[in-house]
Amino acid sequence: MADVDSRPPVIGLPVPDDVAPSSPDLLTLGRRIRHHRTQRGMTLDRLGAAVGVTASQLSLVENGHREPRLSLLRAVAGALQVDVAELLSPEPPSRRAALEIALDRAQRSTLYAATGLPTVRVTRSLPTEALEALVGLHAELTRRADAAIATPEEARRATTALRRWMRERDNHLPEIEDAAEDMLRRGGYTSGALTHRSVALMAQHLGFTLIHVDDLPHSTRTVTDLANGRIYLPPASIPGGHGLRALALQAIAHRVLGHERPRSYGDFLRQRVEIAYFASACLLPRTAAIAYLTEAKRAKNLAVEDFRDAFGVTHETAAQRMTNLLTSHLGVPLHFMRVGDDGALYKGYENDGMPLPTDSTGAIEGQVVCRQWPARMAFTQRDRTTEYHQYIDTPAGTYWASTQTGSGSGGGFSISIGVPFASASWFRGRETRVRTRSTCPDPTCCRRPEPALAERWSPHAWPSAAVHAHVLAPLPSGTFPGVDESEVFAFLDAHAER
Ligand SMILES: [Zn+2]
Repeated sequence: MADVDSRPPVIGLPVPDDVAPSSPDLLTLGRRIRHHRTQRGMTLDRLGAAVGVTASQLSLVENGHREPRLSLLRAVAGALQVDVAELLSPEPPSRRAALEIALDRAQRSTLYAATGLPTVRVTRSLPTEALEALVGLHAELTRRADAAIATPEEARRATTALRRWMRERDNHLPEIEDAAEDMLRRGGYTSGALTHRSVALMAQHLGFTLIHVDDLPHSTRTVTDLANGRIYLPPASIPGGHGLRALALQAIAHRVLGHERPRSYGDFLRQRVEIAYFASACLLPRTAAIAYLTEAKRAKNLAVEDFRDAFGVTHETAAQRMTNLLTSHLGVPLHFMRVGDDGALYKGYENDGMPLPTDSTGAIEGQVVCRQWPARMAFTQRDRTTEYHQYIDTPAGTYWASTQTGSGSGGGFSISIGVPFASASWFRGRETRVRTRSTCPDPTCCRRPEPALAERWSPHAWPSAAVHAHVLAPLPSGTFPGVDESEVFAFLDAHAER
């Protein structure tokens, strides 16, 4: 993994720690000294003699290999008849110097070291043209390394790392909660569901107008025109749905959270998590949501469907929002799952020990969930209009869960929220008599076919496997993973004229 993103994270989410060792400031300082020395036509020997050090010691300073003491720096500045501040300016003194510094940094990176290629000594005899070409090649090498990180396996590792990081924080990000409540105040929010009007006012406060168009580039969900202050959204074809509010809020979130262009797949994922978090923290505002959940818990009547209906959001959004707030503010650890009707886990979270299935890298996405779990048992129910409740005995203990099934363009799915046995008492549906036993990942639990059936069908069955295309579909192709930038730019150009 090669990433030189050393910015402090906006809200404390993880950034890769593989930062190339370098001393860019010393190098710039050295180049500025050399620049002023040659401008004055002084040799290293002459300047050295003037300040009381040898030419070779001075050369080490000019090449960024040694940090000069302040006394030496003052003497050098005096001999060159410039201010110390002039020498300490962070700007490279010339285009040539900027290229030299860029090449030096690139050659010191771990990415370049891994190639095993020799480093090029930057001397005055190196033509500027060659320097341009080398710096350009290094930039391209870095870009390709960033693109290559998003192989499915690397993407899975990045996803897993981020999920673990969120688990350590009980899926709760106070900085984003604060940012959301601040924006909500500006949007005039008081209580209940967040209105489209409030969302538009929030955008307006940031200097943006929300515009619905029917020709958004296929690879995008929204496009923001920073030059003209516009956020383009899909057409508002279904009034009242919460999808458009969520999309607009996610677009706003990039601005509120100060996101910059993602420089790696990990960066891209982190931003996706942050904007989704911000959107749900606006749709189910912390103060109002906690008040609601606290009252429901007191009445032993916690239910995702009530929380969903009170704030006018989807079942999935309400369930995920519970993971942000129930542990951090109500002391209830829990798990969340979105499972396809094929049994594959699309999304999962737990801080209650629920043994979610994982692959060898620790990734859960695409893994098959036990047939005995409520997330799959719910599909076998005839009446699926309301939540299905069930207890499940696992090797990690007994849990209770509430599952709602639904269907979307990708087929049927179920959304589950579950808690350890003892916490079921706060939830509606705790009185259910349904209780099953799971020993997964033991293959005899539900993976291995019945011996009699296996004997009968094994010689005669020839199935063709389906491809699980839904797992980690958005792989990077450019700066914005999965996005055709040329299409986006043409789109913006055409609309800016209107
Ligand atoms: Zn099983």
